[in-house]
Amino acid sequence: MNQVGKIEFKKINRISPSQYYSMKNCAYKSLLAEAFGKKPLLPVSPNAYFGTVLHKMLELISKGAVRSEDDFNKMFDEQVKTVEENLQIQGYDFIIPLQMNVKDFGMKKILLKKHLRALSEQPPKASSAKYYPEKWFESKDKLIAGKIDLVIETGAEVEIIDFKTGAITQDVLDDTGETFSEVKQEYKEQLKLYAYLYFENTDNYPTLLSLVDLAKQKFSVSFSQSECNSIYDEAKQLLYSTNESITKGTFFANPTEANCKYCLYRPACSFFLKQLETDYSFNDVSGSVKNVVKYQNGNVSVFLQSGEKQITVTSLSSDKYDELNESRSKQISIYNLRKEVSEFVFAATKTTMIYE
Ligand code: SF4
Repeated sequence: MNQVGKIEFKKINRISPSQYYSMKNCAYKSLLAEAFGKKPLLPVSPNAYFGTVLHKMLELISKGAVRSEDDFNKMFDEQVKTVEENLQIQGYDFIIPLQMNVKDFGMKKILLKKHLRALSEQPPKASSAKYYPEKWFESKDKLIAGKIDLVIETGAEVEIIDFKTGAITQDVLDDTGETFSEVKQEYKEQLKLYAYLYFENTDNYPTLLSLVDLAKQKFSVSFSQSECNSIYDEAKQLLYSTNESITKGTFFANPTEANCKYCLYRPACSFFLKQLETDYSFNDVSGSVKNVVKYQNGNVSVFLQSGEKQITVTSLSSDKYDELNESRSKQISIYNLRKEVSEFVFAATKTTMIYE
C-alpha cells in the first residue's frame, strides 16, 4: 500500500506565472509539491498527459523545428513515446497506450497539424518581425520566472502568445443572469505576469497579450501596466508569506472542491483528509477498514467506516485483496473513485490509488 512518509517542507525559491494562480488558491499545494520534489502522489487523467505532448508539439512548430508533415508525424510519435515511457517508470502503465485512453486523440492530432499547415501557408511576415519561441524571462530578484511560448516583436509592436491545449474560456453569469464566455481568470493573470517579466527585461511593456488554442482561435487579454505591476507585487508577497509559513510552522490550506479536485498531493494533505471525514462530495474516501470481500469474478470490495457512515468501494482489482485484508481496522484513503448511484457507494477506476 502506498505511504506518504514524513513531509520535509522546503523553501520555494521562485514561482512561475503558470503556477501563480494555483498557489494563490491554495499555497499549501505548492508547499507539498516542493516537498515532494514536484513528483505527484496521484496520477492525473490521460488527457492531461496527452496535453503535455500537444503543448510540446506547438512549441516545436512555433520554433520552426517541425515544418513538414513527415517531421510532424515522426516528432509526434516520439513525444507520445517519451510520455508513455515516463508513465511506465511511474508505474502508471494502466493508461498506456495514450491513444486508447485519451478522449479525441485523433481529432486533437488533426487540429494540431493545422498549426503546421497554417504556418507553411502563411505569407512571409514583415521582414522586421522577430520571433522568439520558448523565451525564458525572470524578474531581476529572480523570484518570478517562466518561459513564454512565443514573443513576436514587430517594430514598436510586441505580442506575447501563450498556447493552450484545453479550453481557454469559461461560461460566467453577468448581473442579469445571462451567461457569456470569458477568458479564464488564471490565464489572464498568467499573461499579465509575463507582461511584467517582459517589461523588467526590456524596459518596455508588450502591446498585445494573446492566447491561442488547439483550433488556432486567438483570444486577446486586455491589460494595464499598473495591473501587471500589482499582480507581480502580489505574487512576490505570496511567495514570502508561503515560505514564512514553513519557518513559523503554521500552515493554511483551502480545501474546496475546485481546489482539491485536481490537486495531486491530496494524500499528503491533512486539511483535505480532515475535510473527507465529513464531506462526501469528492471522488475520494477515507475510513477504517471494516471488511474486505473477494468475489468469484475476482473483483474486490472494501467496506470502510467513516464516522457514522459506512462506505463501500467496489471493483478493486484482486491483487489489492491481501493488502486490504491485512489493513483491517487501519485508517486508509482511496483516491480517484467513481460515485455510484447509491449513496456512499464508489467504484474503482483505472487511476484509483490507495494510501494508508
Ligand atoms: S488537497 Fe486541497 S487543501 Fe490540500 S493542498 Fe491540495 S488543494 Fe490545498
